[in-house]
Amino acid sequence: MSQLASRNQPQLLEPFWPLDDPHGVSHVRLEDEPPLNPEQAMPLLLQLAAQSEAMRSLQTRDGDPVSERAASVLRGEMAEAMRALAELVDPDSAEVIRMRAKILAGGAEHEEMTLAIAARETIPALEVVCGPMCTWRMKTRKPLHSFVAAARDERQQEILDRIDAALEEAIGEVGEELEADRMRVSFPLPMNVTNLLVSAGEAAGHPKHFAYFMPEDEGIDGLPIYEQRTLYMRNVHLIRYKEITVPLGEALLEGPIGPADVPIEGTLMPWIRGHDHGHNVVVATTDFESWADRLGIEPFAMLGEAFADVYGFLMTVSSPWLSISGVTPLEMCGTHIAEMLHYMRRGPQYHGDPGAAYLELGFLAENGYVEIDSEGRIRWSEDGFRRGMIALAATLTEATVGAPDERGSERLIARYGWPTETAAKRTLDAMRHELTNVPTSVAFYRTSDVAAASEAVPLAA
Ligand SMILES: [Zn+2]
Repeated sequence: MSQLASRNQPQLLEPFWPLDDPHGVSHVRLEDEPPLNPEQAMPLLLQLAAQSEAMRSLQTRDGDPVSERAASVLRGEMAEAMRALAELVDPDSAEVIRMRAKILAGGAEHEEMTLAIAARETIPALEVVCGPMCTWRMKTRKPLHSFVAAARDERQQEILDRIDAALEEAIGEVGEELEADRMRVSFPLPMNVTNLLVSAGEAAGHPKHFAYFMPEDEGIDGLPIYEQRTLYMRNVHLIRYKEITVPLGEALLEGPIGPADVPIEGTLMPWIRGHDHGHNVVVATTDFESWADRLGIEPFAMLGEAFADVYGFLMTVSSPWLSISGVTPLEMCGTHIAEMLHYMRRGPQYHGDPGAAYLELGFLAENGYVEIDSEGRIRWSEDGFRRGMIALAATLTEATVGAPDERGSERLIARYGWPTETAAKRTLDAMRHELTNVPTSVAFYRTSDVAAASEAVPLAA
């Protein structure tokens, strides 16, 4: 019996999206270059991406290679390419790339070395991951081979650092608004603001990520939060918004600013940063560590996404953050409500983020802060949306972050959460059944020869 036959048969991954819905992919060109020696570094990155595709193709859903011989050859070649790449980049990034090369070459254990990388004080300007990664835990329960190369966006990093420096002031303002006792962010996760250069293997699967939580997404579980950080890929976030959020919002939103008219170069980064910090908001009485067991992991995760979203939004419209991002509260509202549609469409029955969007929109509509017509179209105003988000934040604080037990959360989920039929269901149905032409994911390509492709003559009929 072969080694393979003795194990479970190789299988494909679980489906990620609702199976009944049509899915489409739009193609977007990636244009960013590595900061140093791009003419030599870029071909190496593309070579590593191709090798990583091959490596991922050899893996079963559990990450076992179907041919150990082929996988071993690929690992050796990738280690070699990583070492060559290290010669072309800044010393700090080079050190991490060499550490990862050592894992590939079999000279270091994955977990131990990944922890050593996570423990480093500095975050590399060129992030290169070439190894196992989890993308969506519902889809990849075991980490699968991935390749990600992303270069720090120094200008945006500087803006993010200023936003972070004003975090205490921002959450203080939110706490005051909500009259919450000693509201604060328990730990501000470091965030590396980058632009994706190339991705391959499982990391290039669908839907696309614009952020990784490191090293948890590298398959290292159970680390305390202060040993983690976020790798944010700003260009992917902007692309997703333009390709998916804008057409959904244009069809379904009627408000004082359109989804295509908001300056997302200024609004999206505070949006994600607010959400990121929102996960770690606590008040004097916060104590919900054991709730996941009683509420169930998925409902608990959904509530976590909901309060992260709502506190995050309130931070983005706080005066200290607005003065740094340079956008208006109306522009933040327009971004937030449009992104809510994007998330909700992924299926509130499946994941935390869509479940949270469904709950949020249901709350806003059922309490009269926005109006949803029979076709699922949403009419909103700046004043109504902001008042609604404050009311929702107060309700969520009472039911989750500041609650003595999980009973209020259960009531909130029963009232607004999936599968309760609220007005949000009409909007969800419109997206699933009528807006089927809007892509559900994006694919990336890199080429310097786009003109040739666009001039291609179709074959005569
Ligand atoms: Zn989240």
